[in-house]
Amino acid sequence: MEDMYTKELTCMLCSKAFKSRAVRKSKQAVLKTDSDFCMYYEKETPYFYHVNVCPHCGYAFLESFAKKPGEKMKEKLTTLPDFFSGKRNAATAELAYKRAIDCAKMQRENDEIMASLYMQMAWINRLRGDRVKEEAHLGEALAHYTGVYEGSDLEDASKVMYLIGELNRRLGCNKKAVFWFSRVANDENCSQAMRYRARQSWQSLRSV
Ligand SMILES: [Zn+2]
Repeated sequence: MEDMYTKELTCMLCSKAFKSRAVRKSKQAVLKTDSDFCMYYEKETPYFYHVNVCPHCGYAFLESFAKKPGEKMKEKLTTLPDFFSGKRNAATAELAYKRAIDCAKMQRENDEIMASLYMQMAWINRLRGDRVKEEAHLGEALAHYTGVYEGSDLEDASKVMYLIGELNRRLGCNKKAVFWFSRVANDENCSQAMRYRARQSWQSLRSV
């Protein structure tokens, strides 16, 4: 199991120590990547392990969380069964992300964090074949990416703009998708990689 390692963590809510498993990305062969950057791995799926779930208080967090939980959250959380300290699958990863989304909402995390949580939740449901939940989470991710685009001065907005187009396409809002793909494809400030992707996705809509 050298493709996994153990992280030593301190809970940001109760300050107690706990351990969590994680995947060495360099050891994972990527089989394919979807047009919204969902990756499929030969063995372990690294993002199943991104959420740390504290076994002492039930607080779930990403190491990238920008804010700290308030004391009041302790009253609102109950501990979860210990599904998270060992190997995870799509079902246990979904539970971890669900709790992380609850915690992130309570501490009013920024749009970038919320968008990434919802995207990964959508991918987990794609893996599980649950189309309804996948689309609901893509819709949430789209709302937060729109917030990221409107609310910040991104140095390079091309990936966010492309994703706004791509999520609209996946949700059947083709007119909006074309609007965003054409913006990315025709904007010289956007990266070459995203302009290429936008042209590809735009093309796929023309051939429908
Ligand atoms: Zn804790």
